[in-house]
Amino acid sequence: MSIIKDDCFNVVDGLMELSDALGLIKSRTTNVCGVEDIPLSDGLGRILAEDIKSSVNVPPHNNSAMDGYAVFADDLSATEPTRLPVSGRIAAGHPLPRPAKPGEALRIFTGAPLPPGLNGNGPDSVVMQEKVTVEGDGDMAVFPPGVKSGDNCRKMGEDVKSGDIILRSGQMLRAQEIGLGAAVGQTTVKVYKRLRAGVFSTGDEITDASNAELKPGSIYDANRPTVIALLKGLGCEVTDLGILPDDPDIIRAALKKAAGNNDVLLTSGGVSVGDEDHVANILKDMGSLHFWRLRVKPGKPVALGTIDGAAFVGLPGNPVSAMVTLMMVARPMILLMSGRSDIDVPRYLAQADFSLERRAGRLEWMRGNLEPGNDGPALVNIFSSQGSGILSSMVAANGFVEIPADTTSIKKGDMLNFIPFNEAFR
Ligand code: AMP
Ligand code: MG
Repeated sequence: MSIIKDDCFNVVDGLMELSDALGLIKSRTTNVCGVEDIPLSDGLGRILAEDIKSSVNVPPHNNSAMDGYAVFADDLSATEPTRLPVSGRIAAGHPLPRPAKPGEALRIFTGAPLPPGLNGNGPDSVVMQEKVTVEGDGDMAVFPPGVKSGDNCRKMGEDVKSGDIILRSGQMLRAQEIGLGAAVGQTTVKVYKRLRAGVFSTGDEITDASNAELKPGSIYDANRPTVIALLKGLGCEVTDLGILPDDPDIIRAALKKAAGNNDVLLTSGGVSVGDEDHVANILKDMGSLHFWRLRVKPGKPVALGTIDGAAFVGLPGNPVSAMVTLMMVARPMILLMSGRSDIDVPRYLAQADFSLERRAGRLEWMRGNLEPGNDGPALVNIFSSQGSGILSSMVAANGFVEIPADTTSIKKGDMLNFIPFNEAFR
């Protein structure tokens, strides 16, 4: 099972444009997950592996959009009030047991079916009860002029027509897709099995938080819990594979073992060019490995490859870099491997509420916040500390402010792209 064709990462030296990297990922990554049938109600976050076609109309019958009176619009005067007998009652779930006839009004409630007529069409209009004057015991009612055919009526099939494809293969199920599936009577769905992802951290200094004591020179492992949480959010079945020391033999054995049980392996740290960065060499020996240096900031190289049939992503060690790289490079790959089709991260234009001088050269994602403007467009601010080790900047922010590569100066009021985290990490 080769997920990524081996030539995928043979890219020229120097910096690669993000768009080229994404183009390569899109053209070279294929879905590797099998399919399974699950109850629709368990489908939240799963990816459809079939188109869903409706065999029913929604709504299945013409019905009332209001509490009021069903009438034949032709019975009502266009210029003066009209008096009609009220000769039936139709509640939701209780159709009138007979055809309706011109000249009568019928008490009707929201969602109740509009009856057919004796000789063809039935009532074609509902007058809301607030506009009707009821007389006597409610057996006569006076209707205002100006009622038009179709008023307050919901047409059979106006939401979904029988035969419509309502959901497409590759779509991720949110609450509303589950709801629409339920509305057409779907009970089970064919979905892709979850992509199996194994996650390591690397580094002699990296310490699991369950080890209460932090030895001199050590730090707690921030990346593994972050990466695991992000992958779960992308729908993966994640295995926590712990922390690997900077020891080539241990790393080699662990990667080989994990490759047999996972579709993709992710590590963080150990893929730079330092003496203790062993992951890259091991991958080169055992599988294939290529570095992509993207023209982006924050951006260390991302290492991509394969090992024993599993895809491999080596994320940078700095926690912010690891998150950015996961979101912008690994995410599209992981989603495509998972069978997902809608993988593009949306950008929204907002107005800078800050000014900045910078060096041109790289597309930059600054941690910032999108906030409502004062009677104007939404505003973006940036967090004061933008270092790639400053994970608190990710907590303070609700998205990335994207600075184009060639920009050297930003002034208050300039329009910039904003990428909300809640759309970029799902
Ligand atoms: P490396 O790529 O291994 O040289 O790591 C780059 C930087 O990221 C170093 O300062 C590491 O200590 C830090 N780092 C690496 N892995 C983690 C991790 N799992 N949690 C927190 N920081 C890390
Ligand atoms: Mg390291």
